[in-house]
Amino acid sequence: MIRIFAPARSIAPWCLSLAATGIAIAACSSPPRQVDDARLRQADADTANWLTHGRTYSEQRYSPLKQVNDTSIARLGLAWSVDMQTLHGLEATPLVQDGVMYLTGTWSVVYALDARTGAQKWKFDPAASKDHDKFMCCGVVNRGVALYRGRVYVGTMDGRLIALDEQTGKPVWSVQTTPADSAYSITGAPRIAGGKVIIGNAGSEFVVRGYVSAYDAMTGTLSWRTYMVPGDPSKPVESAALGRAAKTWSGEWWKGGGGASPWDPIVYDPDLDLIYVGTANPSPWYPELRGTVAGDNLYGSSIVALDARTGEIVWHYQTTPGDAWDFDATQPIILANLTIGGTARRVLMQANKNAFFYVIDRATGKLISATPFASMTWATGIDSAGRPLIVQSAIASKAQGTVVTPANFGAHNWNPVSFSPTTGLAYLAVVDEGLDLHVVDPKFELRPTDRTLGRDPRYHGPLQAKVAAANPKGRLIAWDPVARREAWRVVHPVVRSGGTLSTAGNLVFQGRVDGIFAAYRATDGKALWQFDAGVGIAAGPIAYAVGDTEYVAVLSGPPALYSDPASRTGPNRVLVFALGGTAKLLPPPAPRDPIPTPNVKIAATTTELAEGGALFSAYCSRCHSFTSNLVKGGAVPDLRRTTAAVHATFDSIVLGGARRALGMPSFAKDLNAAQVRLIQAYVVDEAQRASKPTSGSTSR
Ligand code: CA
Repeated sequence: MIRIFAPARSIAPWCLSLAATGIAIAACSSPPRQVDDARLRQADADTANWLTHGRTYSEQRYSPLKQVNDTSIARLGLAWSVDMQTLHGLEATPLVQDGVMYLTGTWSVVYALDARTGAQKWKFDPAASKDHDKFMCCGVVNRGVALYRGRVYVGTMDGRLIALDEQTGKPVWSVQTTPADSAYSITGAPRIAGGKVIIGNAGSEFVVRGYVSAYDAMTGTLSWRTYMVPGDPSKPVESAALGRAAKTWSGEWWKGGGGASPWDPIVYDPDLDLIYVGTANPSPWYPELRGTVAGDNLYGSSIVALDARTGEIVWHYQTTPGDAWDFDATQPIILANLTIGGTARRVLMQANKNAFFYVIDRATGKLISATPFASMTWATGIDSAGRPLIVQSAIASKAQGTVVTPANFGAHNWNPVSFSPTTGLAYLAVVDEGLDLHVVDPKFELRPTDRTLGRDPRYHGPLQAKVAAANPKGRLIAWDPVARREAWRVVHPVVRSGGTLSTAGNLVFQGRVDGIFAAYRATDGKALWQFDAGVGIAAGPIAYAVGDTEYVAVLSGPPALYSDPASRTGPNRVLVFALGGTAKLLPPPAPRDPIPTPNVKIAATTTELAEGGALFSAYCSRCHSFTSNLVKGGAVPDLRRTTAAVHATFDSIVLGGARRALGMPSFAKDLNAAQVRLIQAYVVDEAQRASKPTSGSTSR
């Protein structure tokens, strides 16, 4: 259902504001220049602006600006910052149009700021239900908006697509793109393609059937919708492509939704009129839980090309057939024209979670190359047909667990990747890390509101020790997609780092979870400049100009999933830099005190504590991490610090929703009072362990 909020105005708002100042309305014959199809196609030449998610339709995140360059960078300083009043992490790429910055914060809230000063022009809160947090695998984050014909488009965490008036922030129309009260969510930025707004969804760690939708940008009317996995075979097949995909599934896969939610990249290619999306893992994670026979499970963990006019699937390339490792193919997709083997090729590129860097002919979907850019143990290479050579012992089952590299976090994740046409290099964050894929949970049941990973939360054993001993590592690399090799690397002192921006000033910008925002020389990786933001950074930076000044902007605030011992939480901010900037930040939050000995006693047997730990792992640990609350003001409380007074009201919080306004959902539909008691006993026991001086407190 579409909700229309306001009829088209007879007098445009810029005219009204002029009228209020006494200037004749006739004077407002030249309205602000809107973003239209022509302007989006020519975004690269529009050097001052950052009009779409990856700056241009090619999504290269390369800025032609060079006032800030490898010589002048020493004078780069903070010009302004805005405290975004959240601790939950920021992932958005801000857009800048003619002096106004549009961005999203947590809870899908949209902001318009003066791009020169940070002064707020308007703010729109879609009032998404905070209870929906429990369906967000990785925090209440949002990665940004789209601009088109005087409107700002945002996808909300509860599945709405909303068009706002770009002058006022007032909603023009809103449409629910997902079944209401389902486990679907939206965290990705919409894109514009030929008069349509394209939006995907997330939720493949729950029970969802992923799809892409296109809406008429002006009216909000659904133009087309394309599912990424086949549905219930007792119902008519929606397309020939889904009919072919159904042959790659078995058992009663549709009961688990199938997953494959396209939750981040949606890249429009105006030359071929194709839209490229990356899809998440088929769900549940374990193939054994998806059907009785192994299969590729199309179009899960794939790059899929859709006809922009009809949504028809034109081609697909499956990066991880029969994915057993949560290797979503939802990392950034970049379009480029490269000369490979003496031939000009129109390609798309992706540094996948699975540690292969893919170069694909984007007209045909044919693989050009797939080259490991990080450690991998799940495959030994790619065969002549373009399929990975899978290591069978890397697939966990009911009979046997395993350790696999990369981890489910991925060798690379959603963090923006930039490609410089000047250096011919792609710049990206890389993680070498293993994951203990335990045996399949023997108590596993498919329930629509539960996470459906299938990993046994009761497992405690040598696989975990093996992962811990592997000592994960993080770095920034420059990757040559033609020569298929790393050109340079910067080894980070932390595991997780953020998105990148490259510029014509021979610079690459990147932040890290320890709060360092740095610039490197694009040609050789030499560190040239750094700024201590005090709070971790995961998002991608942008560059823009207002008047004669170039600005570089990035959002600080590590998301909950960024579980890195070095991660620094604290006030999440917009940070904007310019040459000669002298603004200061408030001092970083103080390290936390050691965990106090709990003054609460809850009797529980060893078995009960283990069950409480399993429930904690299933329902609580995603947010209430024991590793990412190292500073005062951490986003979500470390429950080991829970006071006796709060313990006394535990039920009213967990079941009664007493802290809903702060973002803590009610779990009344998921847990009973006895289970909550077991979780509480586990938390107290963990607090007792952590408070002992020899236990290796996590305080910094
Ligand atoms: Ca996933």
